[in-house]
Amino acid sequence: MKITLPDKSVRDLPDGSSGYDVAKDIGPGLAKSAVAIIVNGEKKDLHDIIEKDSTASIITIDSEDGLEIMRHTLAAQVLAKALKNLYPKSYLAIGPTIEDGFYYDIETSQSISVDDLEKIEKEMNKIISSKSSITKRIASKKDALKVFKSLEEPYKQTIINESDQKDNFQLYYQDQDSFVDLCKGPHLPNLSFIGSFKLTKVSGAYWKGDSKNTMLTRIYGTAWNSDKDLNKHLNSIEEAQKRDHRKLGKEMDLFHFQDEAPGMVFWHPDGWTIYRQLQNFVRQKIESNGYVEINTPLVIDRKLWEASGHWDKYRENMFITEIDEEHANEKRVNALKPMNCPGHVQIYNQGIKSYKDLPLRFAEFGACHRYEPSGTMHGLMRVRGFTQDDGHIFCTEDQIESETGLFINLLSDIYADLGFKDFNIKLSTRPEVRVGSDKTWDKAEQALESAIKNLGYPYKLDEGDGAFYGPKLDFVLTDAIGRAWQCGTFQLDFNLADRLDAEFVGEDGKKHIPVMIHRAVLGSFERFIGILIENYSGKLPFWLAPKQVVVASIVSEVNDYVMEIQELFKNKGIRTEVDLRNEKISYKVREHSSKKVPIILAIGKNEKANNTVSIRRIGSNDSKVMDLNKAVQEITKENTI
Ligand code: ZN
Repeated sequence: MKITLPDKSVRDLPDGSSGYDVAKDIGPGLAKSAVAIIVNGEKKDLHDIIEKDSTASIITIDSEDGLEIMRHTLAAQVLAKALKNLYPKSYLAIGPTIEDGFYYDIETSQSISVDDLEKIEKEMNKIISSKSSITKRIASKKDALKVFKSLEEPYKQTIINESDQKDNFQLYYQDQDSFVDLCKGPHLPNLSFIGSFKLTKVSGAYWKGDSKNTMLTRIYGTAWNSDKDLNKHLNSIEEAQKRDHRKLGKEMDLFHFQDEAPGMVFWHPDGWTIYRQLQNFVRQKIESNGYVEINTPLVIDRKLWEASGHWDKYRENMFITEIDEEHANEKRVNALKPMNCPGHVQIYNQGIKSYKDLPLRFAEFGACHRYEPSGTMHGLMRVRGFTQDDGHIFCTEDQIESETGLFINLLSDIYADLGFKDFNIKLSTRPEVRVGSDKTWDKAEQALESAIKNLGYPYKLDEGDGAFYGPKLDFVLTDAIGRAWQCGTFQLDFNLADRLDAEFVGEDGKKHIPVMIHRAVLGSFERFIGILIENYSGKLPFWLAPKQVVVASIVSEVNDYVMEIQELFKNKGIRTEVDLRNEKISYKVREHSSKKVPIILAIGKNEKANNTVSIRRIGSNDSKVMDLNKAVQEITKENTI
């Protein structure tokens, strides 16, 4: 039997060899760290027999795939078993992996709270210390049902009954134990590969996510290959909690949400100041990059959404309105726009366009509404009403490459100014089902790729992950604590312009359909402000801070001088407030510091007498006395991006 490895080398092994035999044949070191194998693109258990000549690669415990399998085994074989040991009258549902960890859902009449997690962890460690090997048995549907009927596991029986598989159900056992789980696998070959883990929380979850079904108990955990990795992760969660924009948003009095408008932001004065600052900043950038700003209606008749295809494909996420129109026989049905693209094509379609008009770059701070399930909403990060820094470029196929280059430069410029030096690019190429000719796709993918290469950026290729209407670039930035946020997109579209009859007269005098490019740098202002708040722990760069300077009196005799100082700063365009309250200066400093005001000027009799100010910067306990005019000059200089 011939096994072709990733380096294209071929190994000749006896028929009936397993993944473990392949690993052993390559080297004893690999055999020791091998946990599973990929055979012809499919992940398999290490001890599965390889049936024919194949391409294969070994999954080791220290790889991403290995870590994923470890988390899976920890959930399905260790946590599930521990729960059954501790709560015998419970029923196991499902236990998948998630980002950084795993969870398990069980039905139990006993309540499980965070206080029980330590006890469950202890039981898990007991199971792990057995270092049991995990073996698999293939069962027919009838057989598998019998097993879970005798174990009284109703959810497992439901899963089997609802499966369209006839047989080949995989049952995983630990040694000759009675514990068995139904699973697609693969699993670790034995429990000695389990690394470091911690159970993190307990919540309720409906079976199959449907509120009509039984409420189950969900137990979450995180797992890593070493204590070091686990601690790093736990520290970063703690750090993230300290920076949580929902918490800081409240402390800084920036915004709130309420039940009458779920997922829609009520911006308070200071929050709205940040929003406007950011919007003005983006506006300057796009104007100097050849975009023209437009604005399109929020409420548009369903006819346009039918033409664009959204009514068919996206209606469940659209807010629909009905209105009794005068002189009309039936109600008019409109939708709040979930995206701005069809509106932009309407403006493009006004008047005949020639190739000389292209590229045409439309920008809109477009307010969009999308119905998101309530469970997925998360502060500013995931909302139902948001404003995109949206834009659409109409161009020819020959212009794709130069437009891509211009966009990447614009994006890296904006990110750098906002404090994000690092971002990754992902290029997603043609999926199986698509519109447009292969020639068009070839040209477009090459244009995107060569634009990135010319600028010298590294990128990741995600083959087949493009939309049916065109390839795209995704831009993922990294924040101060190493978290990745996908923000920017550059999406080519060979479909919508055609659907909505956009065209231009080419050099040949004939009509052509323009390429449409959907692009955004921030994504949405709401989410990006959430990211900024967390990135800076609320201590925004000076130019973005809602209140930049607070002038605080120490005694009331200096009030006139305080007002004079405020006037000087205001004249320089610095957002300045005064605090003349009859409170101790330490109290005032504490309060404004908690609101993350970057500069507090404390003014007493000495300062007034000498025409100076005492400057306190956020994050520093020291204060510095400076001549008033010099202070105005220096602080004004800081008010640049
Ligand atoms: Zn669009």
